[in-house]
Amino acid sequence: MTTRRLYYDDAFLREFDAEVISSEPAVHGHGRRVCEVVLDATAFYPTSGGQPHDIGRLDDAEVLDVRDEGEDIVHVVDRDFEPGKVHGCISWPRRLDHMQQHTGQHLLSAIFQERFGLPTVSFHLGIETSTIDLRGGEPSETILEGAERAANEIVFDDRPVTMRYGTAEKLAQLGARKEVERGGILRAIEIEGVDLQPCGGTHVKRTAQIGMILVRKCSKVRQDWRVEFVCGRRAERVARADARLLRGVAERLNCATDAVVAAADRAVSERDAHFKNAKTALQRLADLEADAALRTTTPNSAGLCVVTRFFHEDTQPEYLTRFSTALAKEEKTVA
Ligand SMILES: [Zn+2]
Repeated sequence: MTTRRLYYDDAFLREFDAEVISSEPAVHGHGRRVCEVVLDATAFYPTSGGQPHDIGRLDDAEVLDVRDEGEDIVHVVDRDFEPGKVHGCISWPRRLDHMQQHTGQHLLSAIFQERFGLPTVSFHLGIETSTIDLRGGEPSETILEGAERAANEIVFDDRPVTMRYGTAEKLAQLGARKEVERGGILRAIEIEGVDLQPCGGTHVKRTAQIGMILVRKCSKVRQDWRVEFVCGRRAERVARADARLLRGVAERLNCATDAVVAAADRAVSERDAHFKNAKTALQRLADLEADAALRTTTPNSAGLCVVTRFFHEDTQPEYLTRFSTALAKEEKTVA
């Protein structure tokens, strides 16, 4: 029996009715008792292709995990389950977020490859941000900004995102970006005029639904370049957090937000100058105090000059080192 994947044809399906095919108790991490349920059809997306699984409910049971197992999709739920009919409901905010990041990834990967010759070798959809690993030369700041702008142009164009079906050969003829070695009829996602790629994930219907795309940073990971990005609601969240952070820094530096870099530079050079001055003054004080101590100490019967001094507990250890070093320069002196 094969689970019919309802999300294949309609990624916007949030609720569905299905028949329970099998239901078996199992024990998951931390000894939690769960139940593994297979249905004849499901709208729940299982973890695969870099996109995490959906969560939601099957009747009153909470869906904790969804796994792809060959032809079946296994739902891990938090309570025992009877055979029969079931009503499923997926958690929509999480799914929409995943579709925004995932479709945004198609768009960014297509632009990095077509315009800048940088193919994507892997994709990870994380909790806070997502990443793609690009292979090739280091993408400059200009390339990163250029890709971000080009991707957002396509978002503003509100182009349709559609599905195409065909063999790997047929899709390659149509210009599919990624070659797949699987046989049979494949499903490919097309962003009009930009991208055609075989993919079994869930995607938005039009590019405007991706929302704003922000490229956050780029770092070297082994031989590839890891580009971090956020789309849609996540972009809104990070832009808001960045603005709050910038305002906080500006308030502390007592300047306008667009003057923080200059103000921070000034604060750092002032700090460095004060540090240097304080060091010089500390050395001068240690030398003078050592001089005074030697002048007021009488050598003992063995001709040794023993200097004893009690310091207040807030005296810097660095000062003690300087003071004792200055004393030790004199012959026959014990500090
Ligand atoms: Zn996809």
